[in-house]
Amino acid sequence: MKKLLVSLLVAALLAGCAPIKTTNAGAVGVQRKQYALLSAKQVEGMAAQSYVATLKDADKKNKLNPNAQQTERVRAIANRLIAQTTVFRADAAKWKWEVNVQESPEVNAYCMPGGKIMVYTGLIEKLKATDDELAAVMGHEISHALREHGRERMSEAYAQQGLVLGIGLLASIFLDDPKAAQTSMGLASTVSSVAITLPHSREQEREADRIGLELSARAAYDPNAAITLWQKMAKEGGQKPPEFLSTHPADEARIADMKRLLPIVMPLYEAAKHS
Ligand SMILES: [Zn+2]
Repeated sequence: MKKLLVSLLVAALLAGCAPIKTTNAGAVGVQRKQYALLSAKQVEGMAAQSYVATLKDADKKNKLNPNAQQTERVRAIANRLIAQTTVFRADAAKWKWEVNVQESPEVNAYCMPGGKIMVYTGLIEKLKATDDELAAVMGHEISHALREHGRERMSEAYAQQGLVLGIGLLASIFLDDPKAAQTSMGLASTVSSVAITLPHSREQEREADRIGLELSARAAYDPNAAITLWQKMAKEGGQKPPEFLSTHPADEARIADMKRLLPIVMPLYEAAKHS
């Protein structure tokens, strides 16, 4: 009951903010209204910090970009996708994109707010992913960043914690009090790690699927690969489901949604392939 009340209050609080503008609808027509308490700059700052820490840690363990050829391959695919992101938002051209590979048995990948991409070797090797399939995964992850899903989730987490800890913290955010802001820095790091590890909502996943499909197609990667990729992923499943599947017991609905969009994105793919 208390949980329900908090989530209702959070929803009301966020709806009280002005809607934020992230992406254009694109051919796939993603246009849900979005709200956020935190600024994009705040969120990107936290993500950048977290990414640097991850890189350092992986490097120390000799797990950062273990295979130069593999890193080159991943970066080449990512760069083609990144070149298409301006279709959805012009400012993405100015993002400080970074693409790295981390040695890990996990079948996973992510793109943090502001364009910090990480692909795990487990994804490449266990799934024997083709270039088209890697593009599908990275396109999906990049779409989360373009849509600022992390910012939405962090805003929710912030609002929730703020409500739980007391209204004082929220006041500090609104009043921009530096001292109170300092106190909330500890909270910020908790929230940022939560936002990175928390599963996306189903609606956010659907949006990332759709925009990802269009990014792949425009970058001349076969969008059909998204279907085979998610099928391979569903088989992999395992105890710790990858980010993509974590909120999706119903993968079939997701695959059906992507199949429905194929007629829209295939012409983009054909055009990109022949240009
Ligand atoms: Zn996702």
